[in-house]
Amino acid sequence: MANASAARQTRHDWSRAEIEALFSLPFNELLFRAHSVHREFFDPGVVQVSTLLSIKTGACPEDCKYCPQSTRYDTGLEAEQLMEIERVLEGARAAKAAGATRFCMGAAWRSPKDRDLPVLTAMVRGVKELGLETCMTLGMLTESQARSLAEAGLDYYNHNLDTSPEYYGEIISTRCFQDRLDTLAHVRVAGMKVCCGGIVGMGEARGDRVGLLHALATLDEHPESVPINMLVRVAGTPLAHEADLDPFEFVRAIAVARILMPASHVRLSAGRENMSDEMQALAFFAGANSIFYGERLLTTSNPEAVRDRQLFARLGLRPEEHEYQRASWETTAAAEPVRSSSLFYDAAAR
Ligand code: SF4
Repeated sequence: MANASAARQTRHDWSRAEIEALFSLPFNELLFRAHSVHREFFDPGVVQVSTLLSIKTGACPEDCKYCPQSTRYDTGLEAEQLMEIERVLEGARAAKAAGATRFCMGAAWRSPKDRDLPVLTAMVRGVKELGLETCMTLGMLTESQARSLAEAGLDYYNHNLDTSPEYYGEIISTRCFQDRLDTLAHVRVAGMKVCCGGIVGMGEARGDRVGLLHALATLDEHPESVPINMLVRVAGTPLAHEADLDPFEFVRAIAVARILMPASHVRLSAGRENMSDEMQALAFFAGANSIFYGERLLTTSNPEAVRDRQLFARLGLRPEEHEYQRASWETTAAAEPVRSSSLFYDAAAR
């Protein structure tokens, strides 16, 4: 947790030139600075762990070029209607048993309809009763929708800025950057915490990565959680053939985010399953301290969760957790032999 003196160092007046200069530092210098900041604000051995459940999948009218859930792209994804409350709670119980402290519920909507609010707020209440923190991502919210979710006890709202204001129109045409800022403002006014980051590797220039982090770091309040996603190239989406981003550039983005928003949790998010263990270790050193864990929690094999526990054990990391969860995480990690990344990828592909 950030201490009082650390909190005094949090700035909201970063210039793009300063951020560019951080990106341009020699890699080791940047990592040293980022890790030093990380240690001032957080225990470097602890990683916050969230679990994500899609509560409404596909058929989204938006045209985000990276997203398989858009109805405009043929990705073979099977659309599903809003899940029943009891199924969501089953997922939350499983997440809790597997060691998650926060349960994130995502729906592929442009924005929720007011008629959906009673079900959504019931989900929030039910998950809270299990003792988990709650997060939702539902698209754009009106002020009154944000207020209803906050009153139900929703802790976090996820709403990403995706990329720089200048590059935004290249990726999405059905809404604009200001729409995102408006929803973030409604979420803040309602009193919820903000989870907000973006995606790199979408063909943007470094200047756009600078622009994204500048937009985040100059918000009146930094998002409590900053997911940095690496593009997952999904067949059928317009970005399916985008070129690889240099993994070191990704780690630089994590390090710069850590320096700019020192008290925020910086999350390794989408794309992590394609990262080597070594790259993830570098990202943790650079200041990443949050992950999604066990996205396939409800399937039988869940190889991602096994690999995560093993990686934590190998790196001496531990999840930020309640006492009741520690035993189950450690027991499982010790019982499983360490497998190489390539074996994991083989298993995951089947
Ligand atoms: S709004 Fe969300 S679910 Fe819809 S296409 Fe964009 S990223 Fe996908």
